[in-house]
Amino acid sequence: MNENAAILEVHELTVRYGARTALHNVALEVYPGEIVALIGPNGAGKTTLFRAISGVVKPHSGKVFASGKDLAGLSITERARYLAVVPQARRLPAGYSVQQTVLLGRTPYLGWLGKPVSRDIQRTWQALERIQITPLCDRPVEELSGGEQQLVLLARALAQDTPILILDEPTAHLDLHHQGNLLRLVRELADEQGLAVLMALHDLNLVSLYADRVALLAEGRLLVSGSPNEVLTEENLSQAYQVPVHVSQHPLYGTPLVLPD
Ligand code: ATP
Repeated sequence: MNENAAILEVHELTVRYGARTALHNVALEVYPGEIVALIGPNGAGKTTLFRAISGVVKPHSGKVFASGKDLAGLSITERARYLAVVPQARRLPAGYSVQQTVLLGRTPYLGWLGKPVSRDIQRTWQALERIQITPLCDRPVEELSGGEQQLVLLARALAQDTPILILDEPTAHLDLHHQGNLLRLVRELADEQGLAVLMALHDLNLVSLYADRVALLAEGRLLVSGSPNEVLTEENLSQAYQVPVHVSQHPLYGTPLVLPD
């Protein structure tokens, strides 16, 4: 594959819920090895964009391409080989162990009998180890805390072995230690494996530290996209969030430091 080509391309996407337009002509690209943070106030359309990319909602107009393929022409299984989605924190279905849940990430690769082979088991263990949750592997998922479930969802997405990873508020239920661990891990996966990452984050200071590019959505429109320095400005943020915002420089890293004014 051409390393200089975007692996995920969103072309002029418009999504409507009934008469209400939730996304207006949104265009976005993510390149291999890149972390793109999608930010914007509650209700801006971040989850809607993810749902349209993953095929949960059908766009009114526009297209999404992964590795140059129009996702609308692919089956759910084919799509799941291109992109893995970690949805916003929610309770996982009961009755499965952590290991079984992560193994579900291999579903797009199972044959018609649905029986996992050694490669599927191996990828499951690799994902559990990478997320450092092997000690949880036999626990029923419904007994886990919200933060532990979030890590299981990420392991399931890694086991899915896709070139594109979409994360919707991945740090929402995580403590300070696990927030840093998760984002450092995502950075490593992008750097080492060329994973293309699109993630929604509300914590703009984490965005500032971990994202290569930032896309700012407000009222379903892409206001601006660019480097954290270009996007995380007082002018852009106060326009999008409709509150005064103060941006200074991080004393250690020199990155934008965002505080409510
Ligand atoms: P948050 O940061 O609060 O998670 P978001 O940026 O992810 O918000 P979305 O969940 O995409 O926002 O919602 C965008 C808009 O679409 C909101 O106004 C929401 O009320 C509306 N919306 C979302 N889902 C539906 C639905 N199923 N039917 C009708 N309207 C919807």
